[in-house]
Amino acid sequence: MPESFTHSPEDAVDFDALVVGAGFAGMYMLYRLRRLGFSAQVIEAGSDVGGTWFWNRYPGARCDVESVQYSYQFDRELEQEWTWSEKYSPQPEILAYANHVADRYDLRRDIRFNCRVTAARYQADRRLWEVTLAGDERITARHVVMATGCLSLSNTPDFAGIDEFRGATYHTGRWPHDGVDFTGQRVGVIGTGSSAIQSIPVIARQARTLTVFQRTANYTIPARNAPLSPEYVARIKASYPELRARARSLPTGYAINYNTGSVHEVSREEYRAEYRQRWDAGGVNFLAAYGDLLFDAEANRTAADFVKDMIRETVHDPEIAELLCPTNIIGCKRLCVDTNYYATYNLPHVRLVDVSRVPIDRLTPDGLLHDGTAYEFDAIVFATGFDAMTGALFDIDIRGLDGISLREKWHGGPRTYLGLATAGFPNLFTVTGPGSPSVLTNMLPSIEQHVNWIADCLAWLRDRGHEVIDASPEAELAWGEHVNEVAAASLRSTCASWYVGANVPGKPRVFMPYIGGFPRYVAKCDEVASRDYEGFALA
Ligand code: NAP
Repeated sequence: MPESFTHSPEDAVDFDALVVGAGFAGMYMLYRLRRLGFSAQVIEAGSDVGGTWFWNRYPGARCDVESVQYSYQFDRELEQEWTWSEKYSPQPEILAYANHVADRYDLRRDIRFNCRVTAARYQADRRLWEVTLAGDERITARHVVMATGCLSLSNTPDFAGIDEFRGATYHTGRWPHDGVDFTGQRVGVIGTGSSAIQSIPVIARQARTLTVFQRTANYTIPARNAPLSPEYVARIKASYPELRARARSLPTGYAINYNTGSVHEVSREEYRAEYRQRWDAGGVNFLAAYGDLLFDAEANRTAADFVKDMIRETVHDPEIAELLCPTNIIGCKRLCVDTNYYATYNLPHVRLVDVSRVPIDRLTPDGLLHDGTAYEFDAIVFATGFDAMTGALFDIDIRGLDGISLREKWHGGPRTYLGLATAGFPNLFTVTGPGSPSVLTNMLPSIEQHVNWIADCLAWLRDRGHEVIDASPEAELAWGEHVNEVAAASLRSTCASWYVGANVPGKPRVFMPYIGGFPRYVAKCDEVASRDYEGFALA
């Protein structure tokens, strides 16, 4: 077994690396660390593996990246032995996959479940991190890897009267494990993002009445989900390397039918036919119809208008249809993918309430009050999203050199080098952190690329006898400028989305993910590594 980082008794650390989170990122990180001979432990707040897919068990939850691509590619055998049943697999199947991976590589023996990290403090004199767990237990590690996910800290708005409501409340991102039966109930759903759009049609099938409170209408494309035929699965399995390579060559890290041409080069009939064909095929592929849809407002309008026409075609009540028609850029907020979302509003027991001009006043013992109308509910579902990208990191009191806290350092918005590290916090890595493509890409390949980069970096440090790596402030500044520059060129940075922190009051408005595309980002990470970790200080 290769030598670990611990060379002498006075240097003794509990682990070479401590990983926070046992979702897809933390699990693969553990796998790589073990194979490199590092001692590692994963700390996980939940009672089992799966991260996002462990917590988000709301009705209708499924991934909207095709499952054959939303899966690990590090082990060809794993890829061949696992068979997805549907184009977009439901949450229980994705969670079963996470469990399969944990079993297959015997990961659980190095994961501590039901255990929350509360603080992490860098001790410069000992060149290690002291990590505090709930209950005040302390663990030391040479390196800490934050595999805490981009959408993991749920956001429930601070509604007045929230504790007075006598019915049941649920957050989509913290759904009860034994499920919820809404049969015969009067249900209110607050929010119309991806989670709401997936759950509303399913809740509507059970509930006696369903009232949806919409602040911002969202664009959603039909999933056209379907079982995968054995022939299709066999074809994918036979051509996985090509599929993965094509995915890696695209900005999204996801093999879609991506057309780089401009919509302005074709006639109205032609682009409408293209949109129709993509609408009928389903999924986020819709937005890849033309290369300028996310860069040119006029180009974007052609796609937005098409979707609005589909909404008007689907929803019988013209007033409700208009209310469901978004007014912003399509794709500016994350595009949603649904099954029967718009058609659900044709059901007589489903009602849509516009809270865009007048916000929800408060929750009451019997329901909620909005614009002078009292609504009575047995249950209220908060589909109100997450404190994205930085929330889970700030949830832990992380302190680097000189005791400076991450919250203080990032008070004006996250500052990272490649979304992997932040200056002044030596030996701390973030998997799919702010400043990396993360949420703008297929998360699985982005996770694997980050984990591989971090694992290779730790092995390189060990081989050269380095114990400390820290991003330089200059490299971080230059990367931040580049992240902002590419964001400014995209329409995506122009609306009040969670990408810019707009959904959380007081959060600085900064476009957090890197929008320069997966291949360009990977090339930069590889270049940094090949130049002996250029932009990092080593000791
Ligand atoms: P979200 O997109 O942030 O949506 C939250 C919703 O709650 C928005 O409609 C928001 O309105 C509304 N809201 C928040 N505070 C409110 C308030 N005080 N009053 C009224 N409405 C309020 O959250 P999400 O739906 O959980 O999705 C988050 C992300 O998770 C997605 O964008 C996606 O990346 C990921 N996700 C993926 C899948 C999938 O793969 N299928 C499924 C679910 C989630 P505003 O828009 O006006 O802020």
